[in-house]
Formats: sequence, C-alpha cells, structure tokens
Amino acid sequence: MAVNYICRHCKTSIGSLNTASVTEQQLGFHSLTPEERSDIIAYDSNGDVTVKVVCDYCSEALDSNPDLLLVGNPLQ
Ligand SMILES: [Zn+2]
Repeated sequence: MAVNYICRHCKTSIGSLNTASVTEQQLGFHSLTPEERSDIIAYDSNGDVTVKVVCDYCSEALDSNPDLLLVGNPLQ
C-alpha cells in the first residue's frame, strides 16, 4: 500500500510512503478524533491512503492571511 501526503489547500504532493505494512499507530492516526480522521484521511479504492496535510507554503500563507481558510482554495 502507499500512503500519499498532499496539501489540503493547493493539492501539492508532499510525499508518500510505500510500505507493505504500516499501522495507524505508526502514522499517528490513532490520536485523531473520528471527525479528524474522516477529514484528513481518505482511503482510495486501490487500497492507497491519502492524508491531507498543509504544506509549508500554505501554512505560511494562512498564518499571514487567516481569512484564506474561509474562502477555501483560492487557487482553484
Ligand atoms: Zn499547500
């Protein structure tokens, strides 16, 4: 299986893990609430996992412009 990390805002691929056996504990998913899990983690039909995070660029942009959060993705 592959675990793909993408930015939730600009959809940039941040990285991916290719591993035969990675547990949710190793990924830190077990510490998330059910709401956070469904928001952050998507299970693809091919068995891959997509994890939505925030890249450095968007993190900085949101720090200086918190209102961007309210308009969704300004790049789309
Ligand atoms: Zn981003």
